[in-house]
Amino acid sequence: MTFKTDIEIAREARKLPIQEIGGRLGIPAQDLLPYGHDKAKVGQDFIRSLAGRPQGKLILVTAINPTPAGEGKTTTTVGLGDGLNRIGRKTAICIREASLGPCFGMKGGAAGGGYAQVVPMEDMNLHFTGDFHAITSAHNLLAAMIDNHIYWGNALEIDTRRITWRRVMDMNDRALRDVVVGLGGVPNGFTRQTGFDITVASEVMAVLCLAADLDDLRHRLGNIVIGYRRDRGPVTCRDIGADGAMTVLLKDAMQPNLVQTLEHTPAFVHGGPFANIAHGCNSVIATRTALALADFVVTEAGFGADLGAEKFFDIKCRKAGLAPAAAVVVATVRALKMNGGVARADLGRENVSAVAEGCVNLGRHITNVRAFGVPVVVAINHFASDTAAEIAAVKDYVAQVGAEAILCRHWAEGSAGIVELAERVAALAEAGTAAFAPLYPDDMPLFDKIETIARKIYHADGVIADAALRDQLRAWEAAGHGHLPVCMAKTQYSFSADPNLRGAPEGHSIPLRELRLSAGAGFVVAICGEIMSMPGLPRQPAAEAIMLNDLGQIEGLF
Ligand code: ADP
Ligand code: MG
Repeated sequence: MTFKTDIEIAREARKLPIQEIGGRLGIPAQDLLPYGHDKAKVGQDFIRSLAGRPQGKLILVTAINPTPAGEGKTTTTVGLGDGLNRIGRKTAICIREASLGPCFGMKGGAAGGGYAQVVPMEDMNLHFTGDFHAITSAHNLLAAMIDNHIYWGNALEIDTRRITWRRVMDMNDRALRDVVVGLGGVPNGFTRQTGFDITVASEVMAVLCLAADLDDLRHRLGNIVIGYRRDRGPVTCRDIGADGAMTVLLKDAMQPNLVQTLEHTPAFVHGGPFANIAHGCNSVIATRTALALADFVVTEAGFGADLGAEKFFDIKCRKAGLAPAAAVVVATVRALKMNGGVARADLGRENVSAVAEGCVNLGRHITNVRAFGVPVVVAINHFASDTAAEIAAVKDYVAQVGAEAILCRHWAEGSAGIVELAERVAALAEAGTAAFAPLYPDDMPLFDKIETIARKIYHADGVIADAALRDQLRAWEAAGHGHLPVCMAKTQYSFSADPNLRGAPEGHSIPLRELRLSAGAGFVVAICGEIMSMPGLPRQPAAEAIMLNDLGQIEGLF
């Protein structure tokens, strides 16, 4: 059987004018700022007018530990949104914007897939409404102002060896990870080593995604720590005087983007923080706007539930006062097989016992999500190669742990293929059994927060950390940052810090290697393992196949 590619399906979409999509949520046409015919930003004044409205039910889509085999969280978020609308629930979805890095690298776009996509997928996966440009510019303005401050005499006495603020670009470019700036003599400033991160790793991105409004945005930008003095005292963005101009650059980017799915479900696509060194979900302002306008809001958190859902709950929901009504854990037979020890090349062959073995990974994610007080249902994202016996093995396992796994064919069939899941999710959410609570209290010491996550979510015996790292945490506590949540950065492939340890490992320990303070975003990043903030391109980047055809259409995006 041959399938149409994502972009072929997207090209055939019959899109409605964006005003009609806004109309479905009661957004007046004059409050939409159109970017062409099929994209719009939602105006700040309208968003302000929504304060105090009753909130819809928030549904989180998360997954088992990812494998290169792919799980389809975004695809399921889109499909479930369409499915809920199909069964008569007024639903919007909220997802992240796409980064050019994965688009031209290996992973591809971020608009979902098959018959569960957001359109226009080409725009969404490329420049979209310019938000990433604005974030890149705001970030680099601060970088330029730091070097400029030093050039003109360094009145703040910044220790040029201790500047933590780097530069960013929305591209996978390993050659820029470490660079020396200020070469070329006296007129070019002072020479120092720095580097580039990808834009989605910028703290400005995380700030934009967690800020409640423009005032909060400026306040948080001002709090960003850019480096330290000789006496180790912090220097902030406010000290440099960049927060005002950065807010100006970000003013339009703060307004959520509205587009549609193939089935005309309103889709807010806004912000896109990295899921490793940041919290990995779309903006608070988009989620709050959607919750004020729809009865159901389906949203996604990056990576598996150990990283994505934990940070969604402990950072985003805690800070924004959100309380999810239900969660969907996406699993695929292929990824369960990999968790059960099957090599990637053998995934196409039926292997019921490997599926059953890999289910321990799914089981632990179910238990973990429930520990936050959020009821869970499992979506089996159906692939053409799945066999009936393999699917039955997943359903049996999930039933044993007291949950339900539902086979979903939204990728192949759109909303018609996901009605059962939509009904189950609606019933779970409407039953009102959720009693969401974050994993740890604000006032727990920072190290204990890291250890709580390691023990309760990763099932590790503990956290290994040098005295210097523990001292750093204590110093931040003394400086008034002790109330912040922790943003864990570890491999997405395993509950442990070892990407090769699949399934549900026990008895491992989590090595804490590095800490970063994101005082603007409002979290402490705990880096456990090799974490890349500037990815590289693979041997054969997707970019090699991307081109314009004779009709001027884009080929090769997926
Ligand atoms: P995630 O959000 O979990 O990273 P996506 O939803 O972006 O994953 O899906 C990753 C890729 O897998 C996409 O290219 C999508 O088209 C493809 N995909 C998702 N579900 C299926 C499926 N059921 N069958 C075939 N391909 C799928
Ligand atoms: Mg995704």
